[in-house]
Amino acid sequence: MKFENSLAFAQKMDEQDPLHKIRYEFSIPKMPNGQEEIYLCGNSLGLQPQLAAEYVNRELNQWASLGVKGHFSGDFPWMPYHEFLSEGLAELVGAKKEEVVAMNTLTANLHLMMVSFYQPTKQRYKILIEDHAFPSDHYAVESQIRFHGYDPDDAMILLKPRAGEELLQPQDVLDVIERHGDSIALILLPGVQYYTGQVFDMQAITQLGHQKGCKVGFDLAHATGNIVLNLHHWGVDFACWCTYKYLNSGPGSVAGCFVHQQHHANEKLPRFAGWWGHDKSTRFKMENKFKPIHSAEAWQLSNPPVLSLAAIRGSLDTFKKAGGIKPLREKSEKLTGYMRYLLEVQLSDCVEILTPEEKKYSGCQLSLAVTLNTQSDIQLGKKIFDHIEANGVTGDWRHPNVIRVAPVPLYNSFEDVYHFVEILKQSIEINRE
Ligand SMILES: *Cc1c(COP(=O)(O)O)cnc(C)c1O
Repeated sequence: MKFENSLAFAQKMDEQDPLHKIRYEFSIPKMPNGQEEIYLCGNSLGLQPQLAAEYVNRELNQWASLGVKGHFSGDFPWMPYHEFLSEGLAELVGAKKEEVVAMNTLTANLHLMMVSFYQPTKQRYKILIEDHAFPSDHYAVESQIRFHGYDPDDAMILLKPRAGEELLQPQDVLDVIERHGDSIALILLPGVQYYTGQVFDMQAITQLGHQKGCKVGFDLAHATGNIVLNLHHWGVDFACWCTYKYLNSGPGSVAGCFVHQQHHANEKLPRFAGWWGHDKSTRFKMENKFKPIHSAEAWQLSNPPVLSLAAIRGSLDTFKKAGGIKPLREKSEKLTGYMRYLLEVQLSDCVEILTPEEKKYSGCQLSLAVTLNTQSDIQLGKKIFDHIEANGVTGDWRHPNVIRVAPVPLYNSFEDVYHFVEILKQSIEINRE
């Protein structure tokens, strides 16, 4: 694709973009002057789809008018409400309907999955994660290891980039699995790394992990709704993701979970159980003999939090209106490609893009480090970040020195990208003096 550095070009791209109109299905935050923000923070909290508000209100109204009868009444009764989400979630992660469920929150699901899929033995007791894993994932893994009576210093293998590098080389990840696989019980890696935006080769990791006898799970917090996933086909054992980032379902909304079909009939798997995981036909006999549903739903604990699930349903229907993840990803490659192009032609001397360029290894997010040598780069990076924010750009700052920006194909435009780079350029010029 041949890009041009001009507002007219960005506007032409928007006119020709068949997905541009989906933007109007979202509420875009405004600046005090009434202008729309340039919102590039969908990697942290996705914007509100109007359908989310509509569906939540609808359930509030059901509750007001029906009380307890809402469990069984209307087109979307509460009792099986989570089932209305399976198809949309399955499409986004490349799974069968029975393999996904919306329940709990991300970190809680990681724990529940480790209860079932981290079964350490004397020979095989280690967990492979990245050195720079998201803290919650690190704590979850560390505490699971301790819970089983092992020492994290010994049982956690931390993947580190080579000295002086920010990214993990894909081959290095596989080499570690090749070398240590026999002692690894569980590989738990991200689909997309939250700090650098790097995409992991989930298929290759799963394949080699399984060859070595390890279980393989992924944290897809930054991957679901961002890149194309094929969890069933790749043979991944389990995956967890939140729904408030690229799934636009609201702060703290209920998370998603995938368990591969091959594990569904295994009633011997250890698990922390609750009544909502019990066979539906006998659940209300209240007999206290746990019989797991033969699907991902078996890992549910409680009856579904309908208000949060209603927002997710609104979000999933909005993805459907856009034609699903594949056309969105196609647009995303252009949108992020355009941002990369503008940064490279204008700011290559002072903005380093940490995110890999190759499409296989990147999603919509770019992680930028400002590298002027005149002041302490870290202070400068933060100053520039504050300046772009004051000028209408919402991105996010990640300690120690990264500005993360994520043009999201559902609601960001090429014009957003153009204006962002202009504002960043001005901020750098002002702070350079
Ligand atoms: C966002 C994110 C989390 C947040 O966890 P919650 O349980 O939803 O608070 C955890 N891990 C990763 C990798 C994330 O990106």
